[in-house]
Amino acid sequence: MALEKFQQYIDGSFEDASETFESINPADGKAWALMPSASVADVDRAVLAAHNALSNPAWANLTATQRGKLLYKLADLVASNADALAELETKDTGKIRRETKAVILYIADYYRYFAGLADKVQGAHFDVDKPDMEAYTRREPIGVVAAIVPWNSQIFLSAVKLAPALAAGCTVVLKASEDGPAPLLKLAQLINEAGFPPGVVNVITGMGETCGKALTSHRLVSRIAFTGGPSTARRIVENSAQNLALVSLELGGKSPVLVFEDADLESAANAIVSGIFAATGQSCVAGSRLIVHESVHAKLMEILVSKAQRIKIGDPQDLETEMGPLATQRQLDHVNDVVTRSVASGAKLLTGGKSPAEFEAGFYYEPTILDCEISSTACVAEEIFGPVLSVLKFKDDAEALLLANDSEYGLASGVFTQNLGRAHRFVRSIRAGIVWVNTYRMISPLVPFGGYGQSGTGREAGAESILDYTRTKSVWINTSEAPISDPFVMR
Ligand code: NAD
Repeated sequence: MALEKFQQYIDGSFEDASETFESINPADGKAWALMPSASVADVDRAVLAAHNALSNPAWANLTATQRGKLLYKLADLVASNADALAELETKDTGKIRRETKAVILYIADYYRYFAGLADKVQGAHFDVDKPDMEAYTRREPIGVVAAIVPWNSQIFLSAVKLAPALAAGCTVVLKASEDGPAPLLKLAQLINEAGFPPGVVNVITGMGETCGKALTSHRLVSRIAFTGGPSTARRIVENSAQNLALVSLELGGKSPVLVFEDADLESAANAIVSGIFAATGQSCVAGSRLIVHESVHAKLMEILVSKAQRIKIGDPQDLETEMGPLATQRQLDHVNDVVTRSVASGAKLLTGGKSPAEFEAGFYYEPTILDCEISSTACVAEEIFGPVLSVLKFKDDAEALLLANDSEYGLASGVFTQNLGRAHRFVRSIRAGIVWVNTYRMISPLVPFGGYGQSGTGREAGAESILDYTRTKSVWINTSEAPISDPFVMR
């Protein structure tokens, strides 16, 4: 059967790239589509198109309110095409259809949030300490944005970059991951349909070391918004030495979930299952380190193992399926490797630890729980990005906090307790960008998202995030009609 063919979107036109690569359906391990692999020359054209669009009156002369209206239109198109986008995302990444559809519908609200914010970005006026002077600031678009996303949630991770960038008046070159780029190449059609002028948004995909490198080191790029792993982030920071772009980095995590002796265990268990097994664990905020009080450890393990074993694994397009495959063979090999090393070094396998026997093809892996004695065990220390929960016990609050903060990452965390004072103490002391108390995996366009330490810098979502797509211009106006008298005195 002929493979479907996708095109890149540069300067308002859909076009083939000179090279293509095959995209694999993780549910059966077979190639299903040909994706355009952007060359360095393609990247250059895309950045130039974005640069030229910045001064094209069709974009530059729009009021912020008009930009917001275009974003509202895009939001409606995303919502009305949620089924098609979800089907593609599921096919290309293995993420279950139930989740892709729900997330995409919610993503429309992210576009709406920033559409509404577009004309609320304000400068300031100063009552300055000089006579006859008016001083104020303007917030102007920062310029060309290079937005780079990983494979695990491309429509969502691009929305939190595209929406504030466009609301602020920037132009964008969006690089989809080389794994599972189909939904973003489809999104390009909706961007085109919404009526953004040519070059305002360009959507390409290709390999990190060619396309990604050319984009992030391009001299005309002023802002890099990156989501991905910490080692790629380091490369991107090196690349940005060429353009001195403002860089935001949303990186991985090894998020702790703390369960105290007074927690509602059934409720905590549901949150833990969602935190680690949703999206087959391929979530940056995955609650992958469970830290549980020794007095409730046995009971909680019993509940969790039972829930993990009842998770329905299967075809991600099937609405009954609760856990689909991992996105790539590479990811499956990585999960297998970390689990094998962890068991070899003493971690106790409570459930899972292998690919389910009933699937002959596809990158499936069972929900896995590993009981560990020490933090240095591979599955506790390393980001796995798979359905693997590592468990540690603690005796008291002090030990719980030590374990929670014993990671170079600091993206998210969960605290399960009925003790309000303890909840607040841990909110203050945990080193992470997000603390969920008696809940997990909550997000909203209104609430900032981002990490501490190796989990990155910068925040996405929330009103403050739009400011990172602007720069401040300070304006001085002399209101006096008197001529400037002494040119050699700074006033
Ligand atoms: P990755 O870092 O390998 O790739 C991410 C993107 O960077 C891809 O588009 C890739 O092509 C590009 N890239 C690779 N090398 C590049 C280079 N030299 N220059 C420019 N671009 C380059 O990440 P991945 O394996 O695709 O995704 C998984 C990682 O993403 C995990 O660590 C995960 O935790 C993280 N993640 C973080 C968040 C968050 O919001 N904090 C969300 C999702 C995923």
